[in-house]
Amino acid sequence: MELTVLGRYGPYPAAGGACSGYLVTAGTTRLLVDCGAGVLSRLAAHLPLEGLTGVILSHLHSDHTSDYFVLRYALEVAQFQGRRREPLPVWAPPEPAEEFGRLGYRNVFTVRPVLEGQAVQVGELTAVPFAGRHSVPAFGWLFTAGGAKLAYSGDTELYPDFPARVQGADLFLCEATYTETQLSQGARNHLAAGQAARAARAAGVKRLLLTHLSPPQDHRVLLQEAQAEFPAAELAAEGKTYSVSA
Ligand SMILES: [Zn+2]
Repeated sequence: MELTVLGRYGPYPAAGGACSGYLVTAGTTRLLVDCGAGVLSRLAAHLPLEGLTGVILSHLHSDHTSDYFVLRYALEVAQFQGRRREPLPVWAPPEPAEEFGRLGYRNVFTVRPVLEGQAVQVGELTAVPFAGRHSVPAFGWLFTAGGAKLAYSGDTELYPDFPARVQGADLFLCEATYTETQLSQGARNHLAAGQAARAARAAGVKRLLLTHLSPPQDHRVLLQEAQAEFPAAELAAEGKTYSVSA
């Protein structure tokens, strides 16, 4: 399995950067996880857009979905030109209902609601959602293929069994929006880098990538705070492909 980081910023992109978007591949399977601002042009550098196997949206906030509404045009054109016939499978939380209702578009997508713990098979990838704690319903995901295990936090604040949900991941892609100082000042709905790192340690993951980086933060502080708890922590790098193996 491989993970390519297409965008690592939230809730808006840094100059020249992109919001959340990750390409997860295994064999011939091409799964796009989240599709925020700037992700589509990055994705197009890796594959023809109609070559996707499926799309998972962790939750329905615009920094994870805005380019999804442009992807539909690319797929519509591909259908019109005969480059793709079948609709693209999409999985997303069913709430907020108004946002979920906007995801369908003509015949280009088949949109399915995500249910807690209910596994989804996307080509050669098995994907299992787990509920996060955010301002709208949000899921993290565990992806497995050929024994390798990739965990993604989605957007969440800390909750008691969070480490258990990502137990033993070979690679843990975790949001790290805040510094410890901001957390102590009452910041909510997201994780601090130190919390991500403590969860990684408790879960016994092999490798930790910090993502959902907020542009005005000093990312060196986030990295330092994470490395104090999990020395091997890294900042996710846009454009980089990470190998995930057991
Ligand atoms: Zn976000």
